[in-house]
Amino acid sequence: MNSNLLPWHRSIWTELGLQADRKAHALLFSGPSGTGKRDLALHLGMYRFCEAPTDLSPCGVCHQCALAGSGSHPDLHVLMPESDLEEGGRLAQAGLRYRPEKSSETTKPKRGIVVDQVRRLTGALSTHPRMASVRMVVVALAETMNLNAANAFLKILEEPPPNTQLILVSTDASRLLPTLRSRCSPLELPLPSLSQGVEWLCQQGVEKQLGELLLRATGRQPLTALKWNNNNWIELREELFMLLLQMMEGKQTPLEVAKKLTKYDSSMLINWIVGYIESMIRTEVLNSQEEGDLMVPAESVRKRWPPRFTLNLFRVYDYLLSLLNKMEGPGGLDEQLVLEDSLLMLNKIKTA
Ligand SMILES: [Zn+2]
Repeated sequence: MNSNLLPWHRSIWTELGLQADRKAHALLFSGPSGTGKRDLALHLGMYRFCEAPTDLSPCGVCHQCALAGSGSHPDLHVLMPESDLEEGGRLAQAGLRYRPEKSSETTKPKRGIVVDQVRRLTGALSTHPRMASVRMVVVALAETMNLNAANAFLKILEEPPPNTQLILVSTDASRLLPTLRSRCSPLELPLPSLSQGVEWLCQQGVEKQLGELLLRATGRQPLTALKWNNNNWIELREELFMLLLQMMEGKQTPLEVAKKLTKYDSSMLINWIVGYIESMIRTEVLNSQEEGDLMVPAESVRKRWPPRFTLNLFRVYDYLLSLLNKMEGPGGLDEQLVLEDSLLMLNKIKTA
């Protein structure tokens, strides 16, 4: 089995690996999504579980490594929001053990970590490790814990069970309760350089030029870029922006556009719209050509964009960001409503 270590994590790993033998403590991995923070957590897990680690690396072939690497080690405990469990991945495999109970079949998956998950974890941690001498607890998207969940988790942090390594993973550590944050050693994980990211995407079978385009469009998030590539989201993005343009030109109403997009993940779509507006601000207002959203050439769009709209870009941008925050927090707003609201806002502001 190959190591999970991503090339842009190599230097930070050396630091981390050297500390790994110290007494278990809590770490806080933070950094942009789509850059492999969870993979680093899993790599640390393999290293801690491995029967024969060498030179700061898990061997990658022993039974413990195999189990940890596939997310099925009994001493690997993972909490993540239900909505993320559905997306799959090795960490999600481990997280299924703490999947929250559905109140009914039609309930939408929860976007935050709930107290029931933390309580079950607390129960599991009161027993001995089952296979290894240590235990790993990874909390992905830790900032989505609601207040009750965070308070329950605080108890684990305050009295950590012996031989237990805790890792909180967060894309926005400022949203964590300060009492949680202050009990963890923070580790800011880096973005890859453009060339590191492109090289990695090429190794995953993405053609070089497309890899570069995807990497710029995702803000150097290689794992997000790979996901876009694998899901044919490039076409979907083009469709979204064409629909937005048609709406701005009055050929479609916001609700008609929203209806055409119902089958896609609303939070992803709104994130794209936000990213697109960011790129418009960069090219239009800040006059920068760097790292723009090359997936949609701003130049061609700008010609069709209502001139006064530019003046309002910042206003739209702030508004959409506030919507995203309300949607992603615990007990968030309904996604489809948020998407409709975003489209109405865009539509209204063009003539404001
Ligand atoms: Zn091993």
